[in-house]
Amino acid sequence: MDRKRCAAPGCGRFVRRGAEWCRAHGAADEEATDERQHAREEFRRRLAQGDYRQLFDADVQAVMAQAAAEPGLADEIGALRIVLARLLLEEADLGKLVAGVARLVSATTQAARAQRAIAGETGQGLTEAINRFLAELET
Ligand SMILES: [Zn+2]
Repeated sequence: MDRKRCAAPGCGRFVRRGAEWCRAHGAADEEATDERQHAREEFRRRLAQGDYRQLFDADVQAVMAQAAAEPGLADEIGALRIVLARLLLEEADLGKLVAGVARLVSATTQAARAQRAIAGETGQGLTEAINRFLAELET
């Protein structure tokens, strides 16, 4: 009779009858499930408090604020282009390639347009500030 082996990639240990994982990987999997369950419960508890800011830990909040303060969309456009390059290299199905490229080009174009709008606003704001400064000098 063939004995079943552990489902964890590269493990190869035999498992108990009816089990998917060996003792080592089964425990790790159970632990991960417990952790996810705990995270879900904690999120619901915080959500019930009705305060958006309390949903995230202080360090996560700090990183979010830092990321949001980053001007422009250079990271987003860069990420889209990396995905486009990966798609071009890895997708063998022509239909999926065409659909994926069309979606990514559309998203990149929108992001680039938004980027220009943001840059324009920044430029306009600077022009207004300079004009105000000059007007103040004249009076
Ligand atoms: Zn295993």
